[in-house]
Amino acid sequence: MKAKKIAIAGFQHETNTFAPMLAPYEEFVKADAWPGLTLGDDLCAVMNNKNLPMAGFMAAAANRGHRVLPILWCSAEPSSYVTQDAFERISDMICSGLSNQPQVDAVYLDIHGAMVTEVFDDGEGELLSRVRETIGPDTPLVASLDFHANVTQRMVELADGLTVFRTYPHVDMALTGGRAFDLLDLLHQHERIYKSFKKIPFLIPCPAQCTKFEPCRSIYSRLPELQRGDVWSIDFAAGFPPADIHECGPATVTYGGTQAQVDRVADELYQLVIDAEPEFENLLVTSDTAVRAAMASENEKPVVLADVQDNPGAGGSSDTVGILQALIEHGATGSVVAILNDPGTVGVAANAGAGSVISIELGGKSGQINQVPYQGAFKVEKLREGRFVCASTMYEGMEADIGPMALLSVVDRDCDVRIIVGSERMQCLDLAIFRHMGIQPEKQKILVVKSTVHFRDDFDPISSETFLVEAPGAHPCRLLNIDYKNLRDGVRLEPMGPEYRGQT
Ligand SMILES: [Zn+2]
Repeated sequence: MKAKKIAIAGFQHETNTFAPMLAPYEEFVKADAWPGLTLGDDLCAVMNNKNLPMAGFMAAAANRGHRVLPILWCSAEPSSYVTQDAFERISDMICSGLSNQPQVDAVYLDIHGAMVTEVFDDGEGELLSRVRETIGPDTPLVASLDFHANVTQRMVELADGLTVFRTYPHVDMALTGGRAFDLLDLLHQHERIYKSFKKIPFLIPCPAQCTKFEPCRSIYSRLPELQRGDVWSIDFAAGFPPADIHECGPATVTYGGTQAQVDRVADELYQLVIDAEPEFENLLVTSDTAVRAAMASENEKPVVLADVQDNPGAGGSSDTVGILQALIEHGATGSVVAILNDPGTVGVAANAGAGSVISIELGGKSGQINQVPYQGAFKVEKLREGRFVCASTMYEGMEADIGPMALLSVVDRDCDVRIIVGSERMQCLDLAIFRHMGIQPEKQKILVVKSTVHFRDDFDPISSETFLVEAPGAHPCRLLNIDYKNLRDGVRLEPMGPEYRGQT
């Protein structure tokens, strides 16, 4: 194939419509565990060797001798709605960037697929529509999506092709960008592409979506063999349940050279998911049960308590203290909680200085119902700037930049509990967070991580056991308890669960 000019842009947000805080423009500008807003050719250096979809797309395109024209890339930590101001500004930057590129042969977008703005339920559908309007109906347009995309009919109609991560923890982000390039390449070689889009009739809670366990392990392991011959790409997006929108939930997207083949294989994948419905398990335990079991463990390796509902990577405020309170009440030893987001406390600790004791209200400040801070005395063990190189496969090549951090220890109760406090939200999915604060995670008895599934990439190999803990947080994992208003009638609220009947 003749060398092509491919314009590329990235705009990532996962929107939890039940979370307390919005995502304004500034959240997309600043860096966190991922890079901040980056423009034009600066993206070549920023994306180099990172496990991000755009990085994978750029590498694949370069390998095949094509030229990419980077416009921008940005992301914000998951939260509630993207402000309309942020959506309009970033969409305008992408579309004007495209208008300024003469004779583009194709466009690639690195998008999440679960963005909800203050006005648009389907943020990516709206973005794709504006991009399509800018480039016209005939310029090929492909995009890669997150595993948690709530894929919509509009996205499928507007893009020529969509690829979706196949792992949770997301260790294949760059690979998925590379697969978007492969799909574009096939598109360039053929007259047209045929599509299939199927919505699954039930929602799947995030803790039950892990691809290291059944049934997702088997479902996802089948995709490479289903993608062959006239089937150019086939994916299953597990969906992001805390998004109160009509098209919330899992879906399959399939592309290929004949409609008959695409339909046949899409039906096969759909049936695999339907047959697996009874196998999805959402095994949540209370804080008390988890702390007691962890304290009773005689294994040398740590027990991980996953604070699944306060995961900032799913829109949690990352400042709830339910598990912390249980650790202190049970007199837990060898315990570390990470990362509790409380910039005010980090400031107080910094003013007091390392070695001093502070009496404070810790966490619980994000204004959620039934959430209060933990009041107590803490020793300031360590103060550090939150800049460190991540070590997990998922965050390969990433340098976190999350502002000042503090390590505190509880001093007014009979326990050994330490807390890593941060001033920007970052999901605790990387062992580097502990090491950066001088803690050897392997040597602890109990590690509390504010994460739902992603921690498993780095923490499973060093831990003996994991409990998924149902503690307060803005990422509700029992879907039957969620007060949805906008789902489509008939969708089951959980695998094998009751049907949603909101509009009758
Ligand atoms: Zn995801």
